[in-house]
Amino acid sequence: YFSDVPQAPPDGILKLSVLSRADSDPAKVDLGVGAYRDDHGKPWVLPVVREAEARLAADPAFNHEYLGVGGLPALTDAAQLLILGSDSPAIAQRRVYTIQTISGTGANMVAAVFLNQFKRPADAAVYISKPTWGNHRSIFETAGHVVREYRYCNYDTLGLDIEGMLADLRNAPNGQIVVLHACAHNPTGIDPTESQWQQIADVMAERGHFPFFDCAYQGFATGDVDRDAYAIRLFVERGFELLVAESFAKNMGLYGERTGCLHAVCKSADVVPQVSSQLNRLSRATISTASAYGAKIAATVLQDPALYQQWLVSMLEMSRRIKTMRDALRDRLVALGTPGSWDHVSNQIGMFSFTGLSRTQVAALRDQYHLYMTDDGRISVAGLNSHNIDYVAKSIDDVVRN
Ligand code: PMP
Repeated sequence: YFSDVPQAPPDGILKLSVLSRADSDPAKVDLGVGAYRDDHGKPWVLPVVREAEARLAADPAFNHEYLGVGGLPALTDAAQLLILGSDSPAIAQRRVYTIQTISGTGANMVAAVFLNQFKRPADAAVYISKPTWGNHRSIFETAGHVVREYRYCNYDTLGLDIEGMLADLRNAPNGQIVVLHACAHNPTGIDPTESQWQQIADVMAERGHFPFFDCAYQGFATGDVDRDAYAIRLFVERGFELLVAESFAKNMGLYGERTGCLHAVCKSADVVPQVSSQLNRLSRATISTASAYGAKIAATVLQDPALYQQWLVSMLEMSRRIKTMRDALRDRLVALGTPGSWDHVSNQIGMFSFTGLSRTQVAALRDQYHLYMTDDGRISVAGLNSHNIDYVAKSIDDVVRN
């Protein structure tokens, strides 16, 4: 039975972390995994998360019971406000349904299965950006969709190919499903400006496309949760029905606790019972109920005004450290006279930088310098720190010259 199962293609990121883990050279720098690290290269438990955990531990009513099928209401309610804004008319009009999911990946998968069952037209394809987070294609294809790409990155300038993107969305048949990164595009770190988002919304409205926002970095891109939700709120304001996948992995540092939500913004409150019943059914069939511990931590942080404020400060600290590292890498490469232009490293946003290094250069950095990044030249800027930045810049300089 099993001998007929074909080998699955390897997952680039997972393969990279195996290689990196096996490398015990003291010079090793892991710029692969998309997880925040402090200036000593260590994972960081946010102080508000520690505080929320202490409160949960001290609560005599704490238990490990199942959550309800929709998740923890204290989290789903707070997550709605965070994504759509506390003054959101859609929330006031009760036309938003939120279900707790297994972090952002689970939210993508629930959305993908839901859309495959109910998409209109029934032959609509899913359009993902070129490039995108490696898992998007896999998730949407696994759910049964035909996946196509729209242009996104201009590989010469390492900026946004807005003309290409708009043309591809305009030339697609009406009513396609379009996956958009709400902020801090992974892997490129290139986000549309506000006016470019307006152009994207115009074309999507014109063509009747359905927006699916993947929001894995709210607060991480600019340190400002409202600014990072600009695109989502713009589309809601424009009257689109849409889905939003929200992850608390990065912005709250809850990676392994698998904490996230899927939001469905509907045209009217009348359709919420239909949509919510189907999302609940799907979730019940796949995970039964979502994870409780991370949800309780996130809800505690989001609902307590003092903890919430402290959380914003921590996000600012993370995004500032990343920005400092971007500038530091750019400055060092410029000072070394490394051939090429490096401003994009500084201008890109979020956790990643799309360096423009070639596959051969990436391989040389890995094999000769113990420096790990994905084959497409993406680095997790959070892996840089004051102790390894000189080594990283010098190594890049060496391989670019050779
Ligand atoms: N979407 C994007 C664009 C991401 O970068 C990530 C994290 N790498 C996710 C979704 C999902 O992450 P998680 O399941 O850990 O929340």
